[in-house]
Amino acid sequence: MDTSVPTSETLAQQQAQQHPSSVSGGPQLRSRVTVVCAECKRLKLKCDRRTPCGSCTKRDAVARCIYSAAAAEKVFV
Ligand SMILES: [Zn+2]
Ligand SMILES: [Zn+2]
Repeated sequence: MDTSVPTSETLAQQQAQQHPSSVSGGPQLRSRVTVVCAECKRLKLKCDRRTPCGSCTKRDAVARCIYSAAAAEKVFV
């Protein structure tokens, strides 16, 4: 018997491929260092830790709203 029933993992991969731009859309921060986005950290703004956060949305700088320790140190202006 060769069963080709799609497993839950296969379905998960297919769903992931359907939304390639929302891979890191969740607030799943494993880093203990950066709790605010790069822009808020750089400008010492109040960050609500959303993606993008409220401060970046107001400043129209959602492109720089990055949550990573490396990005916080190396900001591309
Ligand atoms: Zn922020
Ligand atoms: Zn931000």
